[in-house]
Amino acid sequence: MREHLRACAKCRSLKAPIEIFCRDCQELAVEFRNSERDLLQEAYPFEVYSLYTWYDEVDSIVRPLIYALKGGLIQRPWTDFAEDLVFRRSLIGFHLPEQIVLPPRKNARDHAWYWAKALGHLLRVPIADFLVSDDIQSSQKQLNIQRRKERQMHWRGEDLSQKNLLFVDDAITSGATAQAAHLALGSPTNFEVWTLVARPRHGVIASSRHIC
Ligand SMILES: [Zn+2]
Repeated sequence: MREHLRACAKCRSLKAPIEIFCRDCQELAVEFRNSERDLLQEAYPFEVYSLYTWYDEVDSIVRPLIYALKGGLIQRPWTDFAEDLVFRRSLIGFHLPEQIVLPPRKNARDHAWYWAKALGHLLRVPIADFLVSDDIQSSQKQLNIQRRKERQMHWRGEDLSQKNLLFVDDAITSGATAQAAHLALGSPTNFEVWTLVARPRHGVIASSRHIC
């Protein structure tokens, strides 16, 4: 059986291949999740709820978690993350969204897709997947950051601007992706973001928007 075991992403002791952490580190990883009081991230212009906030004190667990997720696409942890975020979010009370919206994707199944699928399954909410990245032409590179954000993506589905929307992404840093999605969707009033990890950076437009 030994050859089927893998190293824990944090302490490198052996653990089951479908898990990210060994049992001890997993307990710590759950302890470091945001309580319902800390779920809402204040740094963004819309409501962002995240299971983890990546600050220095939790770096020892969030960093290996992110790197382990980068290393492979596995569905199981996303189901666990989704169950826990839905539970913690429901303690504060929320209106069930009518539609889950995904960020534009290069691959058919990426982390955001697994995250959306797990949340959609739990909440019984359909997933809309029609956000498309606009190619930024070289001439557009001179545009200021705000203009570039506005041009970053467009929506190819039916009009959802009057609906209660849940935008999901695996990680949020500057919030530029969610902001571009919000604009592309016609600036819906009811727009909430759920993410695994929030890492607010003031005034910085992150170059890599996703974990992978
Ligand atoms: Zn461990």
